[in-house]
Amino acid sequence: MNDPPFNRSPPMKLVIAQMKHETNTYSPVPTPLARFAVGGGEPPEGDAARAAYIGTGSAIGAFIELAEEVGAEYTIPIAAAAWPSGPVHDAAFEHIAARICDAVAAGCDGVLLDLHGAMVTQSHDDGEGELLRRVRAIAPEVPIGVALDMHANLYDDCARRATVIAGYQTYPHIDMHETGQRAGRALLAQLAGRARPTLAWGRKPMLPHVMRQGTDDSPNRELQLRCREMEADGALCASVFVGFPNADIEYAGLSAVVVTDGDAALARRWCDDLLEMAWAERAQFVYEVEPLAASMARAQALAATKPAASGPVVLLDHSDNCASGGTMDTMTVLGAILDAGLDDVAAFAVYDPAAVQRMIAAGIGARLTLPLGGKLDMPAIGLKGEPRSVTGKVRLLCDGRYRNRGPMARGELNDMGPTALFDTGKVQIVVISNHVEPHDLAAFAAVGIAPETKRFVMLKSRIHWRAGLRSLAHAVVECAGTGVCTSDYAALRFRKVRRPIYPLDAI
Ligand SMILES: [Zn+2]
Repeated sequence: MNDPPFNRSPPMKLVIAQMKHETNTYSPVPTPLARFAVGGGEPPEGDAARAAYIGTGSAIGAFIELAEEVGAEYTIPIAAAAWPSGPVHDAAFEHIAARICDAVAAGCDGVLLDLHGAMVTQSHDDGEGELLRRVRAIAPEVPIGVALDMHANLYDDCARRATVIAGYQTYPHIDMHETGQRAGRALLAQLAGRARPTLAWGRKPMLPHVMRQGTDDSPNRELQLRCREMEADGALCASVFVGFPNADIEYAGLSAVVVTDGDAALARRWCDDLLEMAWAERAQFVYEVEPLAASMARAQALAATKPAASGPVVLLDHSDNCASGGTMDTMTVLGAILDAGLDDVAAFAVYDPAAVQRMIAAGIGARLTLPLGGKLDMPAIGLKGEPRSVTGKVRLLCDGRYRNRGPMARGELNDMGPTALFDTGKVQIVVISNHVEPHDLAAFAAVGIAPETKRFVMLKSRIHWRAGLRSLAHAVVECAGTGVCTSDYAALRFRKVRRPIYPLDAI
């Protein structure tokens, strides 16, 4: 739908802001304010925030574009997004929340927020709910439109205080911009007097496994399809949130939100339909883990029989995925690759700033032996970091900056920090100083690797890699390593998550 230009006098005033973090409560990776800004420092505000996101595949980018289309005045008090990691430092949350609250307090007709939905801070298990609670205390009546990640763990404070909620309908998340449009258009329709958003929401006591949440796969494909059907049938926004299970908080897990135009009974019925559909398929969200030795043998067999030029066998080190809060420095899967003697491998990536500095000091072409990875202990799951001694040659050094080609987060800037390509002769290992997940071919271009030409590609990723690389792969082998994204729910030793909950309990 195309909204007609919005004309009234004085112009509508909007506050547009972003506060995005998926918190893995087991992760030892700290989350200070600097993690919310590409390159460190403070997150961008005002014109700098607009420049960072206009024209990109982001929800906040869509908010800005919609505001400009309807001729609204708007302010962007902050645009803060961080890669997943441990609980957000209180000082970072207070900085971001204060910027947003101050802007709302200055007066506005509507608020558009690009949030994640699974933020845990040092003091609040529901970061987004705490933000909305504060905004509502300042502006009890102002309409608030919220875009959320599909991995949101929805709490009452968030669901009750928002006027409109729209969640991503794809995983990998290639519809962030469309999600911003869905939330933004519904809110603008209300402000223009053309709609009365009515929201129903609910949860089911289930923890879908992240490896089973991709929207190429059942049952999430069908759940998200049903959401789109509801929107085609008149819902303003329909969303199923599969939740993020590597968070030991009361309301981790699956939820749904449906927003209709003034029909509370229909919103309730559709929301319950989505929840019942998910519950009926709960067994399909359980992930069966293959032992690492079996995965390695399968990968070698696949490579032995694959036709020439058919693309790499992709090995997913899914226990250490940085986009789920992994340290990106566990060496279990990469160690198995080295031990098995696999040849013609690209590995993306190992987080080890100290190793990069040693390679910078040694220089391009230098040959050296390094203790690689394993610098971070993971006390929340009872693991010590275990570096692995690796000998190789420094092939390339760079600043690690690249702009996504898409389809996920198209146009957004990424910063791996000082980056090195370390070559053992058989395995080319990308070593980075800031966390990024390899979901975009631009990350490989930045270090001179053409992944489609390799025999094997190891990725520290779960599902997002599919966005940029799935079409190149000959085959995919999911490899269970070690890390805070472990697929073993028993290792997570949940204490706070509500019980009973499936599949921890047989309900
Ligand atoms: Zn997500």
